[in-house]
Amino acid sequence: MKVVKFGGSSLASGRQLEKVFQIVTADRERKVVVVSAPGKRYAEDTKVTDLLIECAESCLVNQDPKEKLAAVLERYAVIAEELNLPDGVIQEIHDDLLTRIASNQDKPDRFLDLLKASGEDNNAKLVAAYFQSRGVEAHYVNPREAGLLVSDEPGNAQALPESYERLNSLNDRSGILIFPGFFGYSVNGEVFTFSRSGSDITGSILANALKADLYENFTDVDAVYSVNPSIVKKPKEIKELTYREMRELSYAGFKVLHDEALVPAFRAGIPVNIKNTNNPSAPGTLIVNNRDNTNGPVIGIASDKGFCSIYVSKYLMNREIGFGRKLLGVLEDYGLSYEHTPSGIDDVSVILRESQFDEKIMDEVINRIKNELHADEVKVAHSLALIMVVGEGMRQNVGTMAKASKALAKAKVNIEMINQGSSEVSMMFGVKEVDEKRAVQALYEEFFVPVTV
Ligand code: ASP
Repeated sequence: MKVVKFGGSSLASGRQLEKVFQIVTADRERKVVVVSAPGKRYAEDTKVTDLLIECAESCLVNQDPKEKLAAVLERYAVIAEELNLPDGVIQEIHDDLLTRIASNQDKPDRFLDLLKASGEDNNAKLVAAYFQSRGVEAHYVNPREAGLLVSDEPGNAQALPESYERLNSLNDRSGILIFPGFFGYSVNGEVFTFSRSGSDITGSILANALKADLYENFTDVDAVYSVNPSIVKKPKEIKELTYREMRELSYAGFKVLHDEALVPAFRAGIPVNIKNTNNPSAPGTLIVNNRDNTNGPVIGIASDKGFCSIYVSKYLMNREIGFGRKLLGVLEDYGLSYEHTPSGIDDVSVILRESQFDEKIMDEVINRIKNELHADEVKVAHSLALIMVVGEGMRQNVGTMAKASKALAKAKVNIEMINQGSSEVSMMFGVKEVDEKRAVQALYEEFFVPVTV
């Protein structure tokens, strides 16, 4: 049995839905279909999820959401018309949206989740109606009734452990099950969404809960590329990679799969196949537990902007028991999560995502570190990019770090910091954002472009 997930661009138009129908019905094992909300039809288009956010925001500032609502409905109406679906389908979506808008707005972030979740929920109903209109037994499944329980964290929910056993009974249902991605219900019955792009997570949870043989994740690229194609033209496709490699790469900027989506599949040992809705016969990329890693040390290079580092130095830091805890404790007090902490004898840097705080909070954090930890020096460096060089083969290969740093030196990129993950699956370079592109290109050339003699 396979769980199949389709992303927003695979469901953006009637034509795309027809491809989805062909893909699902071509293989009897494709039993559970997880859907996103309709995504972009072309580069400048707006995703339904973003339209819904605008709609919720209008409501929250007491503006008439009529126009925003019409924009959302229009997206479904165009698809329904292209597919000749009965009028009742759109009427049902319309009524559902009105009910949501009329609901309690006292807790804005919960109201926002309720509206965001409608994108996938209504799309699942529409997709089920389409499959039925084509004479196939298909059923919309409501996540609450199926047992997908999540924590009550708006916009950042996590599946509760008991969900897995409850969802397993979906195996007993007949027909193709169309399951909306991106959200679940709290124990109290309220809607909470995962973080953005979270339908990938739903698919992985279902694959685990139903003990699927494969989790197929359909998107709009033929494969996961070894480097961002907007930085290097036509980069090498990755045929196979491990969960750990994919997790490292998606953490640092590979957007093909949500970085939290791997864990449920990994725990149940279910391979994940990234495939292209627009070219389903391409084998795609397979994510597995172990792979043959004799093809060189590096499988991919990812990079992401928007980091800063807080550099703290204090003479004899190495002997001060509890220094690290106190330092991280200050960040914890402000609800800040950190990414890395490269350290020396008398100094340590903490790398954080800049989007988490404003200048005022940063000033407070720095003052507290200075005053409470009696640091000699506290400095903040902004606008950093992190580059992750990833590959299981690194463990067996000598000199990967040397090659990488030599390539960066040749490209005249100043390395601000280096961190080699304890797992030896990745190494991280911190560089200035302005050097990011050049650095990634230099590393790609070093590890992927065959040397012609
Ligand atoms: N529609 C949601 C988003 O745009 C979730 C998803 O597509 O996975 O973030």
